[in-house]
Amino acid sequence: MSTPRYVDKGLADDGDLFEFDDMEEAAGEGEEREEREEGEREAAPTPAPPAPPPPSHPCWSCREPVPAGSPTCPECLESTRHVRLISPEASIDRRFGTGPPLQLGRDPVWAQAVAVELSGDKGKGVSRRHANVELTPDGTVWLTEHPGGTTNGTYVNGVQIGRGARIALRDGDVVGLGRHFAFTVLTVEPDA
Ligand SMILES: [Zn+2]
Repeated sequence: MSTPRYVDKGLADDGDLFEFDDMEEAAGEGEEREEREEGEREAAPTPAPPAPPPPSHPCWSCREPVPAGSPTCPECLESTRHVRLISPEASIDRRFGTGPPLQLGRDPVWAQAVAVELSGDKGKGVSRRHANVELTPDGTVWLTEHPGGTTNGTYVNGVQIGRGARIALRDGDVVGLGRHFAFTVLTVEPDA
């Protein structure tokens, strides 16, 4: 009876066969139990710690967090890609996304966003309804002179554009409304 067990266990030592066999059997059971526990751990792994929140950045418009890669702010729905229009001389630093064009001029109603800044000498040479800047969903920034034309012209990097023309701007272009007032156009990609 003991011989088959001896063979099954693969023991190759001599000595007290029965005692040795019992010891080995006990140790073998211990190993089997350990292996079974390891198998259970693999079948039901402990849940991974919760993933850290995805990187986000504050919305340029409402300051709420916007997940990285999101094309729009979930809170205010503004496009994350936006245009920044800067004229330190006139204390202008406006940001706007896709949507209605930003109208530029001295007409306090038509060009509500900048008319105050362009009143007086700061906006010398700027027409009441001069031009607009627009960001289209494809990411292009357009400068359009008012269809009625302007008294003193519109310039991109010092070169006058045609009367009522619509021009695609590049990041960093300097736009002149007349010869005395200019602003810089920046396109901003928060996720870049
Ligand atoms: Zn927002």
